[in-house]
Amino acid sequence: MLHIGCHLSSARGFAAMGRQALDIGADTFQFFTRNPRGSRAREADPADAAALTALLREKAFAPIIAHAPYTLNLCAADEERRSFAREVLSDDLHRMELLPGQYYNFHPGSHVGQGTAAGAAHIARALNAALWPGMTTTVLLETMAGKGSEVGGRFQDLREILDQVELAEKVGVCLDTCHVSDAGYDLIGDLDAVLTEFDRVVGLSRLKAVHLNDSLNPPGSRKDRHARIGEGCIGTEALARVVRHPALRNLPFCLETPNELPGYAAEIALLRRLAE
Ligand code: FE
Ligand code: FE
Ligand code: ZN
Repeated sequence: MLHIGCHLSSARGFAAMGRQALDIGADTFQFFTRNPRGSRAREADPADAAALTALLREKAFAPIIAHAPYTLNLCAADEERRSFAREVLSDDLHRMELLPGQYYNFHPGSHVGQGTAAGAAHIARALNAALWPGMTTTVLLETMAGKGSEVGGRFQDLREILDQVELAEKVGVCLDTCHVSDAGYDLIGDLDAVLTEFDRVVGLSRLKAVHLNDSLNPPGSRKDRHARIGEGCIGTEALARVVRHPALRNLPFCLETPNELPGYAAEIALLRRLAE
């Protein structure tokens, strides 16, 4: 069975998101660990987290994804910004242990002129400082659109980070369909070739989750503007091939399309039909 869900608001707490996911036919979901643009984390409620953990188990959810704030930049040029980002990462990962065994996804960051190699080194150092052997979370590097000086627009960027991470078994990758197409990979015309390239450079065993989004812009545009399924340049057919692909079909898929809950429910139902 296809594992699919969408991004949900965490405003009403953990267990509320689990119930909301069930209401719209989802068996996974994603949420921001804190205000996506700001930095303050809500006080985590262990009882609420335990209630969600029980619900996830009872309803056989696929792993859920906590998403770091967009502003987190582990490879900022300014040491003060990097050190702030490292604190956020470390704090988030410790909180994640309230929801054992789930995923924590982050944007590698923007190297702002330092170059990809320097950026990858900063990111790996931050991970080496934040990860610990007993943690139960798997941390995911997201494939990016390659906007500006973003690290992660090429699979090779992710390889460079992974090569320098000590606890490599704690780190995987989340593939975003909008980002990969915007970055110039031919997701529309030749999905097999894209996955073969991913396997060669990163390794398919590292791929833990997929962000399923259409794109407002054509391949290679490096824009990162998400569209609803079938309302963008990737299109329903190409996205159906993604959810049906044998190398991907057991992964959790998460919609980050511009939708309210009814729109998400409709896309989830559509993709479940297309995956059959
Ligand atoms: Fe993201
Ligand atoms: Fe994404
Ligand atoms: Zn995006």
